[in-house]
Amino acid sequence: MNTQIRHIVQNMPKAELHIHIEGSLEPELIFALAQRNGVQLAYPSVEALRAAYAFKDLQSFLDIYYAGASVLLKEQDFYDMTAAYLARAKADHVRHAEIFFDPQTHTSRGVPMGDVINGIHRACADSDVSATLILCFLRHLSEDDALATLEAALPYRDKFIGVGLDSSEVGHPPEKFTRVFARARELGLHLVAHAGEEGPPAYIWSALDVLHVERIDHGVRCLEDAELTRRLAAEKMALTVCPLSNIKLRVFDDMGQHNLLSLLDAGIVVTINSDDPAYFGGYLNENYLATFDSLPLGLQHAHELAKNSFAASFLPAEQKQKFLDEVDAYFSAFDVV
Ligand SMILES: [Zn+2]
Repeated sequence: MNTQIRHIVQNMPKAELHIHIEGSLEPELIFALAQRNGVQLAYPSVEALRAAYAFKDLQSFLDIYYAGASVLLKEQDFYDMTAAYLARAKADHVRHAEIFFDPQTHTSRGVPMGDVINGIHRACADSDVSATLILCFLRHLSEDDALATLEAALPYRDKFIGVGLDSSEVGHPPEKFTRVFARARELGLHLVAHAGEEGPPAYIWSALDVLHVERIDHGVRCLEDAELTRRLAAEKMALTVCPLSNIKLRVFDDMGQHNLLSLLDAGIVVTINSDDPAYFGGYLNENYLATFDSLPLGLQHAHELAKNSFAASFLPAEQKQKFLDEVDAYFSAFDVV
């Protein structure tokens, strides 16, 4: 990648649509919060914890992810975690973030729902990055647990814009959550779901047809199904692709094997995101740079990806257009190569 493209990609205005806030917890902050809250960690040092980030698949990652989240006990902890992410995002020229959070990871440990949502939301309100929240259900738990979680979050309905579905995909198809997504839809919430990361294309079909999602998180396995690929393109159904996550969790062997360019060439609205940046080796710009370093992507692709990130957001139309105009103005300064 030439230095001009590198500079353009780093500095272009962009949105992030797939970031789990608990996945932004850096080992240093985990240790600081553990000390503040008197939590005993299973790792003796920051270095030992970082060394444990050598995952072989989604499940081995999730085991460490939940251990890290165990230090989050008070509203201020959720605030500090979110503020740290937003500062990092701002440095990557993120203008808007739609942030996932997993309340069940916390309420199951006795943390009140209000402390989780208020802490994260207050940090968003204090940031000059535009940020909204999406409440995710843990798919390895039951649908009844998800329904109870949604009801418990309703007193804070004005502080989140949608619901999603994350955690262990295989064996937990979208249709397991039909009722809770129907309920969220009735409430006027936006709907997204992880599908087609480790799970098969069939999970993408059911996320669309049974859950009625408006975006697919990951979705990279759609290319195994030509009819599905055509449908995603025709319906402009955005995929929130997370390149470094896909490599770290062995969805692809290396970045040169990643299918992001094939997805773009198939006409799909692809966005680049960081997923769990503290665990997967990079925040948003590092995901862009790793992708541009390994695949034959140029200025037009950078422009398209920046536009897609805002176009696929749940921002109100006027605000969305303002950001899209900002992207076009930014790119108008460069020669098309
Ligand atoms: Zn994710």
